[in-house]
Amino acid sequence: MTHIAVVGAGMVGLASALNLADAGYDVTVLDRKGVAAGASWGNAGFICPSMTFPLSAPGEWKNGFDAVTNRDAPLALPQPFNPKLWKFLTTFTLQMTEKKFKRAVDELAPDLKDSIASFERLKDFGVEGKFNHSDFTVGLGSEAELHHFIEETGINRDAGVPSVVETFDPREKPYFTDLVTHGAIVKDQAYIDPPAFVQSIADAAQKLGVKIVTDAEIVTGHVGADAVGLVDAQGRSYSFDGVVIAAGAWSDELLRKLHGKSATIGMAAGRGYSFTAQVDPEYLPTTPVYLPTTRVVFTPYRGGVRVGGTMEFLDPDAPLRPERIESMKRVASKYMKGIDLENTTDHWVGPRPVSPTGPPKIEALSPRSFVAAGHGMWGIAHGPRAGEQIAQIVKRTLK
Ligand SMILES: Cc1cc2nc3c(=O)[nH]c(=O)nc-3n(C[C@H](O)[C@H](O)[C@H](O)COP(=O)(O)OP(=O)(O)OC[C@H]3O[C@@H](n4cnc5c(N)ncnc54)[C@H](O)[C@@H]3O)c2cc1C
Repeated sequence: MTHIAVVGAGMVGLASALNLADAGYDVTVLDRKGVAAGASWGNAGFICPSMTFPLSAPGEWKNGFDAVTNRDAPLALPQPFNPKLWKFLTTFTLQMTEKKFKRAVDELAPDLKDSIASFERLKDFGVEGKFNHSDFTVGLGSEAELHHFIEETGINRDAGVPSVVETFDPREKPYFTDLVTHGAIVKDQAYIDPPAFVQSIADAAQKLGVKIVTDAEIVTGHVGADAVGLVDAQGRSYSFDGVVIAAGAWSDELLRKLHGKSATIGMAAGRGYSFTAQVDPEYLPTTPVYLPTTRVVFTPYRGGVRVGGTMEFLDPDAPLRPERIESMKRVASKYMKGIDLENTTDHWVGPRPVSPTGPPKIEALSPRSFVAAGHGMWGIAHGPRAGEQIAQIVKRTLK
């Protein structure tokens, strides 16, 4: 039986493992820590095709100035003089033309159209995680913001992504403060509890025979004509017939070691933060809530809410910076009522694998090595489809 290693037990790696096992491969997942040890743990769990856009939209460069002048800006650049980061930011900013943005929207559209269905297909593999179909509630601070939001969702509609948006009076929602003056409901989206859902993919994969090896940080390796050798930080050597690199924001380091610099994606770790809070039942949102201007989100989570936000370009393993959590709390208290911000738990930071041009890299690097990484803001929503895509590529390529 052909033996394949998947490096990374996040959403993308586990969905890849599941599809590869279903295709008849003997699969071993290697993770430096364990299941959902990276960005797949503390994210917001939004699967919202109607309002998913490439990050490098025209005009977004203004956020760079905001990052310097406003401590509560969604974007933070705590290490502004890092040359690698500047290279990334230059390529990233050059994408912000109407033409390139439109091209990225069109490229993303097939993934968006399929994202909810791809979660449904996971059930065929025995994935039992709860998948919540839901409308999304959007809170805005002016009529201009509302128009901008509706215009944005129209971009996806033009690209063929179903996108139904209705307006409502935010006073109907008990949880918004008076600063939310306009509201929109985005119909027919979905959300998950990310740690529980990703664990349910790991469980289903193991039932299909996938082995998951934890504490196995791959530090080097060699892709040969007949086999792939990998070595972990403890000096253990592994031999496989093929390898899929799905190590999220850490993937470039491995790609460089296995194939040299030309195989890297040029990603930056776009670190985001989250925490859990209890909510007075009177003010508990029953749908995910999004505040586009501040980019802070609230997902119903285990009886309370998970509050998520921030885009901070910094080393993926740098320690959590408590000031970012405090900033999100200030935003939450300004726009939302009833959230207990004194007794928050699960303070978390994780790295989004942000590619400089927008789309992820899902392809063969050689007849025995493959990459599925760089999903940026949307690796949860697109992880199941990425798993299907990489399994098809492996089937076509690995003889
Ligand atoms: C605050 C926040 C909110 C978000 N909200 C959403 C959302 O609502 N919807 C959405 O779709 N996306 C969201 N995202 C983005 C999403 O979390 C990521 O795109 C997605 O989790 C990436 O999955 P992945 O499997 O590629 O990477 P990861 O989940 O980071 O997994 C990579 C794995 O590789 C392992 N690894 C790394 N290096 C090695 C090595 N050398 N050897 C072995 N193992 C290694 C890591 O331990 C990790 O487990 C959010 C992200 C953040 C930070």
